[in-house]
This record gives sequence, structure tokens and C-alpha cells, in this order.
Amino acid sequence: MIVFNLGCENSHRFEGWFASSEDFERQLGAKLVTCPMCGNAKVSRLPHAVHIAKTASKPQRPGRGEPTAVTPMQYTNVGSEILAKLVEHIVENTEDVGPAFPEEARKIHYQEAPDRHIRGTASRDEVEALKDEGIEVVALPIPAHRLGKTH
Ligand SMILES: [Zn+2]
Repeated sequence: MIVFNLGCENSHRFEGWFASSEDFERQLGAKLVTCPMCGNAKVSRLPHAVHIAKTASKPQRPGRGEPTAVTPMQYTNVGSEILAKLVEHIVENTEDVGPAFPEEARKIHYQEAPDRHIRGTASRDEVEALKDEGIEVVALPIPAHRLGKTH
């Protein structure tokens, strides 16, 4: 499984999950890759890792040497079942590590643990710390009924 940062013609940014980069190229060629926010099929791969819009807005921290791209919260009028499917897909393709998420994400980043996709819980501070280390994480809008026994 490979994750690409993608963008559509309308400047929406989202992640696409593919079996391989060939799979991505194939699906893109067949116009099977569409923006989950507007359905646009002119999707391109973004050259750099991009933090996609989160479920909650948070203040941008000013002055860190690089231009601060303020990404406004994005909304969509697609049905919640589309989002639910996306979440379902992520849940099925990630390993639930629960509260060990920050530690495990760090280990994966520093190649101390097998490279894989995980999900779990972290405090806002822990997420900030991970991002400061260049570890990309995004908030998952997982419905409560999908959380199972993990707190
Ligand atoms: Zn779009």
C-alpha cells in the first residue's frame, strides 16, 4: 500500500491509497482517481508532502522560516457515506496501535520499526511534536462506532 498526496483542479488536497505507483498511474489514466471533495478527475500528484485539512482548525504558528500556507478548512456537500467509506478504507489498511501511536509513528519514521501505516490516539502536543520532527500525521474523522475498544 502506498499513499500519495494528490490535488485536483479545484485545489483540493487529499490522500490517495494505491497498491503501487503503477497502480496509481493506471487508475489515473483510466480517470478512476477523482477528488473526494468535488469529484474532479483532473487529479495530479503533489510534489511535496502536504498536510491536508484536518477535522479541527488550529492556529497557524507564525514565523518558522518557511512561508506559512494557510489552508482554510474545506467542506463538501458529498454524502457522509463517502467519507465513511474513506475512513473504512483507512481503518482496514492501518494497524491500530492505540495510545502507542506517537511512539510507534516515531519508530517507523526513524526506521526502528517496520514501515507500515498505523492509526491510534495522540494528544495535540504529541501530534505537534511529531510534525516538528517531519512525521506526517493527519486527524482521522472516525465515527465513534468504528473506534471499537480503543480509547
Ligand atoms: Zn476537488
